Amino acid sequence: MIAILGKHVTDERIQEIVEYIEKYEVKAHVSKGTDKTVIGLIGKADPKLVEHMRQLKDVENVVKISKSYKLASRDFHPDNTVINIKGVEIGGEQLVIMGGPCAVETPEQIDEIASLVKAAGGQVLRGGAFKPRTGPYSFQGVGVEGLQMMAEAGRKHGLLTITEVMTPEYVDVCAEYADILQVGTRNMQNFDLLRKLGTIQTPVLLKRGFSSTYDEWLNAAEYILAGGNPNVMLCERGIRTFESYTRNTFDLAAIPVMKQLSHLPVIADPSHATGRRELVEPMTKAAVGAGADGLIIEMHTDPDNSMTGDGVQSLFPDQFAALLQDLEKLAPFVGKRFDTKKQPVTV
Ligand code: PEP
Ligand code: MN
Repeated sequence: MIAILGKHVTDERIQEIVEYIEKYEVKAHVSKGTDKTVIGLIGKADPKLVEHMRQLKDVENVVKISKSYKLASRDFHPDNTVINIKGVEIGGEQLVIMGGPCAVETPEQIDEIASLVKAAGGQVLRGGAFKPRTGPYSFQGVGVEGLQMMAEAGRKHGLLTITEVMTPEYVDVCAEYADILQVGTRNMQNFDLLRKLGTIQTPVLLKRGFSSTYDEWLNAAEYILAGGNPNVMLCERGIRTFESYTRNTFDLAAIPVMKQLSHLPVIADPSHATGRRELVEPMTKAAVGAGADGLIIEMHTDPDNSMTGDGVQSLFPDQFAALLQDLEKLAPFVGKRFDTKKQPVTV
């Protein structure tokens, strides 16, 4: 249930309405947008409350919302969420590029790649220190030392950093070193992890589970939001279908659908979505055309010898740089800004 108020209603009056609603043992969530203020009700609303709410002064309308997720939905929060991390705005006009290797390997490797991401115009350095590998004998990442190597490279080159966290126990240490925490596709419904991420304020990039529906994905986001962390972004990284030519099937429609259903920023991952280097460029451009707020792209200086199998989908540095040059031209056509030479100083 949401109550819609005009945009000129004062904060005092909004507070009075919230207090009135909360007497009925539901939680009220206020979202002040540019055109209207929405008060969303969380919990089972007494029919009497609904009736009374309709008659309250300044309440223009009361609408029933049947979706199971609330805080993640655009009904509850009509304006886009913009997450500002040290001057980089994710979900606003700026197009945000996160680039780097699948895994952090050595200090030299991550330092060199960071310098190339920065030189190309990217704003965020990606790299996994804890890797969710399908097989237990595969390289599992270099762990906390990798977090330190990446934080150092990010600081040195003026980049934000993003890294994957797989278990609730590691959330605090990952948040100590990285600016954004990534929840991988395999952990989208790791509810203990999601609950833990709800207790901090570090931004979270929530990848779509490879067999998850939009509804399940938004409910996973709801866990983090409901815990009290409003800084969530969604990432489409491909889903499993009958097609085996590509590693996954890139669900391009997920981008505009998420922008309709939700107010959260949407990021696309054309690397894992396709698993093929030659498809990363066209799918990046398609994602920008479809309205993505940012991209997370694997890039490696020596992909043939990368320590995970993801070298085959990693761009070479010159391809990465050329792609970002093209995005500078493409972004304005979809109302975005991207300037390879003038990125905000971040760190
Ligand atoms: C990754 O980003 O390297 C990764 C493992 O992603 P995903 O969870 O999408 O497979
Ligand atoms: Mn990878």
